[in-house]
Amino acid sequence: MCEPLRWRVILFVVAVSLGALLIAWIDASTWTRVRQLERDFAAVKTERFYQSIHLRVAIRQLNDTLFRFHLKGQPEDLQRYRAEAVELQQWIELRKVEASTEEERALFSNLEDAYATYLRETGKLQTRHGTVFARKQLDEINEKLRQHSAALFDSSEQLMHVQRQVFTAFLKESQQTLDSFQQLIKASLILLIILAVSVVVLVYRGMITPLRAQLSESQAVIARQEKLAALGGLAAGVAHEIRNPLTAIKFRLFSLKKSLPVAISDNEDVNVIAGEINRLERIVKDFLQFARPTDPELVDVPAVRLLAEVHALLKSPLERVAIELKLDARAKVWLRVDPQQIKQVLINLVQNAAESIGHNGAITLRAANDHATLGGNKLPVGIITVIDTGKGIPPEVQKRLFDPFFTTKDAGTGLGLPIAARIVERHGGELRYDTQLNHGTTFMVVLPRVAANES
Ligand code: ADP
Ligand code: MG
Repeated sequence: MCEPLRWRVILFVVAVSLGALLIAWIDASTWTRVRQLERDFAAVKTERFYQSIHLRVAIRQLNDTLFRFHLKGQPEDLQRYRAEAVELQQWIELRKVEASTEEERALFSNLEDAYATYLRETGKLQTRHGTVFARKQLDEINEKLRQHSAALFDSSEQLMHVQRQVFTAFLKESQQTLDSFQQLIKASLILLIILAVSVVVLVYRGMITPLRAQLSESQAVIARQEKLAALGGLAAGVAHEIRNPLTAIKFRLFSLKKSLPVAISDNEDVNVIAGEINRLERIVKDFLQFARPTDPELVDVPAVRLLAEVHALLKSPLERVAIELKLDARAKVWLRVDPQQIKQVLINLVQNAAESIGHNGAITLRAANDHATLGGNKLPVGIITVIDTGKGIPPEVQKRLFDPFFTTKDAGTGLGLPIAARIVERHGGELRYDTQLNHGTTFMVVLPRVAANES
């Protein structure tokens, strides 16, 4: 797996894990909150909110039972009153224990006191004098009962009030908890969506886009090769036809010049004709080389030898235009190449470099060992670089750099780079470049390397 892809996959896994962790956290906290709510519900028994009603009913019933006893004089009513009184007392004690707030507990204490007073006062009414009660006496008893129980009714009123408050607070709290649930669920939903979208984006960018780029790159290479093949056939035919008459013209001009007096033979027109014939010859030579590349004859050579030969050949002509040709071949790089063809590549590159510089500058020839991806495999390679201090290559030229016949020069053939690239490709290598406008260009001839000990 190539480096960027691996990083993308790692990034992708990290993102998914983070998202999953976050969702798990939200899940856990929601669960704890649900449990809390469940506990709250269990603690708040709804029957509590009927306690004051129960209390009122019970007091009324006690009063009624005691009154009936006075009215009818049956001892069962008195017994029932006593039983009910004990029952109510126990009920109050129990409720006091259950009370959840300080306020409630205080209220139950008051209630207990009021009930004690009630029992004490009504205790005095538990004996019945005579057999039949007059209406007046009954009214008096009724009035006493009402008075004694008034405090109790007040307490029950307060109880109702406090418990309603507690209930309202509880409802409010539950509402808040539910609201926060809603928020959490929304958040995890949004997170899930983000996670899903980023998974899609990452998969697309990390895996599909590079594959597409690779595909379109290889399609472009195929298209270029097809174009090269077609043009090659055509160029070969034309060049072949031109070469013979051209040789004849050159020869005739040469003998003509010899037979003419020096004044005429050194005439400017004659020189221009000679120059143009040379140019035509060069074009034809390039055409033919481009159209009919010969198979490389591979031998093991140290890169330094190739560089030294190119250096020796081009050093002085370049000096004339104030361009220094530097040689840096300290690294021991062994290549298995056709030396003639690779020298031709280097000459083309140095010529381009010099043409880009024009006047005054430097070109460096360098060889180094490295590793590079060639044909999809990472290999040990030897890289020969040609570094110039020229104008650099503008983007619009870069787009067509390797197109056959593309040139920005008046006298250019536009075949130098296509020929160079083709030769390097036939060696199983690649011609690469790096350029910076107004600073210079570096061309790299990347070739499979031979281990030094193998040679
Ligand atoms: P030619 O040299 O005949 O124009 P090439 O195929 O050698 O054809 O080069 C194509 C074009 O690429 C050149 O016309 C030039 O514009 C550009 N080019 C090549 N090498 C360089 C360089 N080292 N610096 C700047 N431009 C370059
Ligand atoms: Mg050129």
